[in-house]
Amino acid sequence: MSKSEEKVSSGLPFSEKKRFHYDIYAILEAPQELYFGSEKEVNINIVEKVRVASEKGEYEKCYISPTKRRGVERRTLLWSDVNGGLLMDKLQCGIPATCCQDTCPICRTFGGMKAGEKTFIGRLTHSGGVAISPQVAIEKQRAMHPAMIYKEKTDTPMPYRKEYAQPGILYPVSNHCLSIDEDEFATVAYAFLMSLNRLGAGNPKGVSIAHTEWDGESQPLLVVDKYRVPMGEKPIISPSIIENSIAISAFLHLAKSIHGDNPTKFERKIGKDALHTLQDAALVFEEKNLKA
Ligand SMILES: [Zn+2]
Repeated sequence: MSKSEEKVSSGLPFSEKKRFHYDIYAILEAPQELYFGSEKEVNINIVEKVRVASEKGEYEKCYISPTKRRGVERRTLLWSDVNGGLLMDKLQCGIPATCCQDTCPICRTFGGMKAGEKTFIGRLTHSGGVAISPQVAIEKQRAMHPAMIYKEKTDTPMPYRKEYAQPGILYPVSNHCLSIDEDEFATVAYAFLMSLNRLGAGNPKGVSIAHTEWDGESQPLLVVDKYRVPMGEKPIISPSIIENSIAISAFLHLAKSIHGDNPTKFERKIGKDALHTLQDAALVFEEKNLKA
């Protein structure tokens, strides 16, 4: 039996390429209102929130849940264009019916399952998403969706109330990849960048990577790690921090703290270099997967 035919418990075929761990850390900013729903009460749609305890008391914070972000990333990949068609049609891969083909860049990375036949264990996980400032969501009145008016055969839109997370809120997030090769990281990078405009439910939606003055110029609050040994402190922001300026300086400080100098074991890109790393990887994804 050749190495490529060996059964492995991850379900994945043997890869000739060297695998690394990769992390993406970013602070995202909502340039407009954002709605990521949690539950519907009678005639009111509620934004998903979490409760956070800090030294100064307990706060309610808006939340971009990692599971929802993961769903948006996966859909963004499925809806990518391949010569006029969609990647999901080319692969016959969808949600929840994943294809689990060895050649599917999405299932290989995000995981997939064909019930009773095959399972790929996902090696990409999503974290963070708790807002920094504890601004409460604002409730607004909205008219009923036209489709509902048609369904209920009434001419009068039934107004309902909907909460929105306010613009300018910062959300620290991170994506973690366990033992993936360069091509698989290309999928992760493409999905991360492409999903930013699509985060949120309904309209409006979208976030951007927040910027700050960093090493003398305005740079994105972004860090990309590629490693075999975890040598740096992870720029993860404690949810108990409630001030943007404190969170941003913590992010910058942690991003610069790397122990030792061993680029073959740990490589960190920060700011615009990190963005270029993701963009270069996204180009690789397009070359490999979106050409007919
Ligand atoms: Zn698939």
